[in-house]
Parts: sequence; C-alpha cells; structure tokens
Amino acid sequence: MLRKILTEPDPILRKKCEPLEKVDIDTKNLMDDMLETMYAAPGIGLAAVQVGILKRLIVIDISKGEEQKKPLFLINPKIINQSKKTSVYEEGCLSIPGLFAEIERPAECILKYIDYHGKEKELKAEGLLATCIQHEVDHLNGVLFIDYLSKLKKDMIIKKLVKQKKGIERVIV
Ligand code: ZN
Repeated sequence: MLRKILTEPDPILRKKCEPLEKVDIDTKNLMDDMLETMYAAPGIGLAAVQVGILKRLIVIDISKGEEQKKPLFLINPKIINQSKKTSVYEEGCLSIPGLFAEIERPAECILKYIDYHGKEKELKAEGLLATCIQHEVDHLNGVLFIDYLSKLKKDMIIKKLVKQKKGIERVIV
C-alpha cells in the first residue's frame, strides 16, 4: 500500500524517532509499504518518519534502473563509526521536493542494525550507500539535509516550500 510522504515544513519531520522493540508482522507490513512508496516516488531511501511513523526504521535501495533490486531494511540503525575522509554528493529528499544541494559527509560509515528477519547485522558502507544511510539516519533524529546549509539559504528554501504548499502563484508583472 502506498503511503503519503510528508514534506517540509511538517513538524513531524522534526521529531526524534523511537526504537522498535520487536520485528513483528506489523513492522514487516510497514516496511513493505515504505519500500513500495519509495520505489513509486521514486527515491533511493525512505525513513518511517517520512510517512508519519515515529519509529527508527529505514528502507534503502541504491540499485539502478534495470539492475536487480537490492532492498535494505534497517531497523534501529546505529552508526558506530565514520571515516575522517569525506565525500560530496548532490542530495535531494522525498520530503523536500525539487530541491538539491551539495552536502559533505563522512565517506565511509559502519552501521549496526536489525534486518527484516529480526537478525542483528553490521554493515560497512562507502560511496553513495554511505551518504544515503547517513541522510536517512538523520531523519530518525529530526534532521534534514538542508540543516547543513547556511541559515540564510535554509530560510529561503523553507519560505519557498511554504509558498508551494499554500499554492501561491508567482507572477512577474
Ligand atoms: Zn530525505
């Protein structure tokens, strides 16, 4: 089932998410919905908070186009190490439609998490996957990628998003 993706500025996106206590059928249904919603958007990562559920739950799939799908389900993810080396990607976010910005983050990270079947796992990520994981884990703590931009730039973006939501038309006369 497709879920509605919340967009900035929505106060829910700024809340801190709670860990899941167990992986049950409801969790699996939610994760399946999140994956479907993410593929339909389309996007490469989605956190539960983006569909209004304040739980520490993420789905990611960075496979491209015709490649075989490789969904990752991350429950209670915890970044336990990050490299000093950084990399820059132009990031976008399903909760901030139409906006992209270059963001610098650690190039590699090590993550502990619980998988779809309730098993504890560890993952070393680099490149796009490392950026995607860090972007999504930020969501669980109420952080959006625009928070890394200057206050001036961020304020301008939020103002624009508010206008978009209100459906105010821009005219040049
Ligand atoms: Zn995002």
